[in-house]
Amino acid sequence: MPGAPSITPSAAGSKSIPRPHQRPGITTRKTLCASCDIACSVVTEVQKGRVTRVRSSDNPLFKDNICIKGITAPKNFANPDRVLYPQRRVGERGSGKFERVSWDEALADIGTRLKKIIDEHGPEAWAVSTSQWNTGTDHGLGRRIMNHVGSPNWISGVALCAGNTAAVNRLTYGWYPWPDYDNTNCVVLFGHNPGKNSWVPVYNQIQRVKARGGKLIVLDPRKSECAEMADLWLPLKVGSDAAMMLGWLKVIFDEGLYDRAFVERWTIGFEDLRKRVDEFPLSRVAELTGCSPEMIAKAARMYATMGPSVIPWTPITDQQRNSTSGIRLQSILRAVCGYLDVPGGEALMGFHPKIVSESEIEMHEALPESQKAKQLGSDAHPVFTYRGQAALREPCKRVWGHEYANQVTGCFMANPSAVFRAMAGEGPYPVKALFSIGNNTLMGFANMPLILKALLNQDLIVVQEHVMTPTAQLADYVLPGDSWLERPWMFDGYGWLSIYKPSQRSMEPPGECTSTFEFWKRIAGALGRPELVPWPTLEALYDWRLEALGVDFETFAETYEVHADKLEFRKYEKTGFATPSGKVELRSSILDDLGFDPLPYWRDAPPPDAEYPLTMFTGVREAEYFQTGGRHVPELRARKPEPVLFVSPTTAKAQGLSEGEWVQVETRTGKVDIQVGVRTNMPDGLVRIPHGWWKPETERGLGKLSGAMQYADAQLCPDDGEYLDVEQGVPHLKGLPCRIVKRSGALA
Ligand code: SF4
Repeated sequence: MPGAPSITPSAAGSKSIPRPHQRPGITTRKTLCASCDIACSVVTEVQKGRVTRVRSSDNPLFKDNICIKGITAPKNFANPDRVLYPQRRVGERGSGKFERVSWDEALADIGTRLKKIIDEHGPEAWAVSTSQWNTGTDHGLGRRIMNHVGSPNWISGVALCAGNTAAVNRLTYGWYPWPDYDNTNCVVLFGHNPGKNSWVPVYNQIQRVKARGGKLIVLDPRKSECAEMADLWLPLKVGSDAAMMLGWLKVIFDEGLYDRAFVERWTIGFEDLRKRVDEFPLSRVAELTGCSPEMIAKAARMYATMGPSVIPWTPITDQQRNSTSGIRLQSILRAVCGYLDVPGGEALMGFHPKIVSESEIEMHEALPESQKAKQLGSDAHPVFTYRGQAALREPCKRVWGHEYANQVTGCFMANPSAVFRAMAGEGPYPVKALFSIGNNTLMGFANMPLILKALLNQDLIVVQEHVMTPTAQLADYVLPGDSWLERPWMFDGYGWLSIYKPSQRSMEPPGECTSTFEFWKRIAGALGRPELVPWPTLEALYDWRLEALGVDFETFAETYEVHADKLEFRKYEKTGFATPSGKVELRSSILDDLGFDPLPYWRDAPPPDAEYPLTMFTGVREAEYFQTGGRHVPELRARKPEPVLFVSPTTAKAQGLSEGEWVQVETRTGKVDIQVGVRTNMPDGLVRIPHGWWKPETERGLGKLSGAMQYADAQLCPDDGEYLDVEQGVPHLKGLPCRIVKRSGALA
């Protein structure tokens, strides 16, 4: 989730120079942190060619605090565990043993083997999995090469984190909007909990909204830190976001609190939606969400009457069995309350008119329709696949000037589980090569047992990484990636924004580490397609992207803190919306055509499972870590050395658990070892599981995989049946039946 730059016209072209440092021998660089996906503006201090310190910038949004992950970056990337040279597997897959090879040797073998796989099984037998934040955006080059070679099977962690939200938002009004925090009157957080050490700019923006008298509504089963400072806290049942919003709409429609003029002029499907919403009297919503009718009504009224308000992206609604309806309902609330593309609401930005976007670089038009049709998962769960987004191509061109808007890189993805099933040999066709770019694939998606089987069934696995992750330990080649200290960057919210933030390179990469630009350039060469990446350097690519702006990257980075061409609200009055109807589709023509319910709905949870009487939620990022990263950094491990579950004192007592005790949490999919943390802010019966645990210092190779087999929450998460959102096929991570089993012996 990208940082939270201001979007008001005053932000356009804002310039800033980092404050000079007086100490001799130290130079400063203006940089964007990418230790998570937020891209905070920071300043690096460089001494003798090495970054010695990361500190906050003068940007008002970041000057007061940056988080521990950013501050520790120089130590993180200088860690002795860092992979500095290409590594080739020695022995069986999963042996955990590697030898150093040259880039040329590695690329020659990778090229030969990948071409053989493509010749034997077709280009769709090559999948790429990326999270992009770790080894950086790949500038659209991975998709570009895959599109020309003919593979549609690109997957990413954004399938269950922001990318899917972008794709679903597009169904309603054609573009995923960005909150105007600077002018908003009210912020609504669905389970999201930004803090001083995570999602820092969002946290800072919320503080600013509160300081000028704005309101904060938090919906979270726990009394989170954000709930503590909220004007209204609704402790809804985990996973009931969609039901809650149906209740809000019931209040808003019944009390006439919606923007009638906007609804009449700019929406379709209002009457159908109203009938659907009438199925949700507050008594029913109260039962589904666990919140009182009075509280639900109060929150709905606050949101609808405060004037322009925002519902920022949340990693919570993304990961529920009703995710598509939940995300759609957030879109619908924005629209019917009149908060779409207005100051203080949420802005539809489109592409920057003079900077070439990564969506254009990706060249989705080069992938033949016959290959798009083979995209895995597009039959059963099409929403974020080529098939699901196809009807948006013409409207997107009409309104935004280009057919393909790959917002948050999540709009033309294959379904990850479908790709893993094909990789595991379960059809519909073989996938035999996986490239994992800055993405600890094994632990990054639900159903880790399936992913392990899939990885072990590959003919070729290539990983680009910083450290020997559990996924890297299963690879044929591990290629060393650079860090955000070591590369320039031009950030546009991963295709979300028309605002650009430049980042300067602070130091040269160590060893033979390379950027994703260089990685893909070399892979294109190894495939005999060097013309696909014609730019000699990353800076040359940026110069080309900026050509129409009349500036080269170096000047651009020196000049701007934030750059936008011009920011205009209510653009739809001139262009209509980028949907098939040109209107906000409260009733989705796209979902209808795909054979789904075109209106948001509620799907009940399966009946309670007597053997698994507790309920868990996972996917939680701890402040010290981002996803599965950072466990090799001693400063971070000292702060959070072990995975810890949270339960309420009552639940702990009922289960006979005590603080610090090691237990096993089990679901029908798998089990993990974890320590007990008793927390008074947890509701009874709910178990909070942290995401992404492994221990880099422990035994490598198949069997242990540095603790992934023992601690990774992906072991617990199913990816099928009742625990899947139907339209997208994303897993339900917010409300899984589980049990806690006391360990009889010591931890192995
Ligand atoms: S929130 Fe922290 S890790 Fe993320 S970009 Fe900002 S400083 Fe870096």
